[in-house]
Amino acid sequence: MSAAHFPDLAHKRVLITGSSMGIGLAAARAFAAQGAHVGLNARRAPAELAEILQDLRKDGGEAEFFAADLADSAACAKLVDDFVARFGGIDVLINNAGGLVGRKPLPEIDDAFFDAVNDLNMRSVLMTTRAALPHLRASAKASGQSASVISVGSIAGHTGGGPGASLYGAAKAWLHNIHKNWVDYHTQDDIRFNIVSPGTVDTAFHADKNDEVRQRISNGIPLGRFGKAEEMAPAFLFFASHAMSGYITGQILDVNGGQYMP
Ligand code: NAD
Repeated sequence: MSAAHFPDLAHKRVLITGSSMGIGLAAARAFAAQGAHVGLNARRAPAELAEILQDLRKDGGEAEFFAADLADSAACAKLVDDFVARFGGIDVLINNAGGLVGRKPLPEIDDAFFDAVNDLNMRSVLMTTRAALPHLRASAKASGQSASVISVGSIAGHTGGGPGASLYGAAKAWLHNIHKNWVDYHTQDDIRFNIVSPGTVDTAFHADKNDEVRQRISNGIPLGRFGKAEEMAPAFLFFASHAMSGYITGQILDVNGGQYMP
C-alpha cells in the first residue's frame, strides 16, 4: 500500500479498536503491510470480513477480528483478553473507536446522550488502555523496546467541535489531556502515549453531509479537500515504531491538511 518501511514493526502485535472500516481499517492495512500481527475490532463483523482478513495476512503477518462493543467496560477488558489469548501479548494499542453518536445542541442533551457519547469516546479508551497496561509493560520489558499507546483525538478536541458536537469535542479534548497524565505515570514502564488528531477525513463519519456542505468545508482547508483514511495511517506507524519515535511521548500529531494549526 505504501513505500514506507518500518522494519521494527514486523511481527509486532497491534490491537486497533473500531477497525472494521474508515481510519482504523486503513491503519490495519498499513500495519499488516509491515508484517505486523493485527487485531481488528468493531461491534459486529463487517460483511466482507473474510476478504479483509485474507488481504491483511498476505504480507506475512497474522490478522484476527474480535467483536466487542467498547462502550461497555467489561467488553473492553474481554477484547484485550481475547487478543492476548490469540497473539500472546500486546505491543501497540490503537484506541481508534469513537464517533459523534449524534448531533444535539445543548438544550437537547439528556442523560442518555451524555452517557452514549462519553461511553464511546472516553470510557472505551480508558478501560481498554487500563486492561492493556500489564501486557504493554510486559512487552517493553521482554523486548527492550518501548510499547506504544496511540489514541485518536480530533480537531474537534482543539476547536470545540462542529454544530451539535459539543460532547464529542469535549470527549476528544479529554483524551488529549488524559494522555499527559498517563505519560507521567507510565513512562517508567517504557510505555509511550501519543495522539493522532485527524481533521476532516472522508469516512462514514461524514455520511450526513451533502456535496454543498462538503465543498464549504473543503474551502476552509488549506489543502483544499478532505483527507483520506489512508493518509492517517503513516502517523500511526510512526508512533508505533520504537526506532522512529522512541523518544516521543505525550504529543499530539495533527493530520488535517492545515485546517487547524495549534
Ligand atoms: P468510521 O465511522 O468510518 O469508523 C468507526 C469505527 O469504529 C468503525 O469500525 C465502527 O464499527 C467502530 N465502532 C463504532 N462504535 C463502536 C463501539 N461501540 N465499539 C467498537 N467499535 C465501534 O469513522 P472514522 O472516521 O474512521 O473514525 C475513526 C476515529 O477517528 C474516531 O475516533 C473518530 O472520532 C476519529 N476522527 C474522525 C474524523 C473524520 O473526519 N473522519 C476526524 C477526527 C477524528
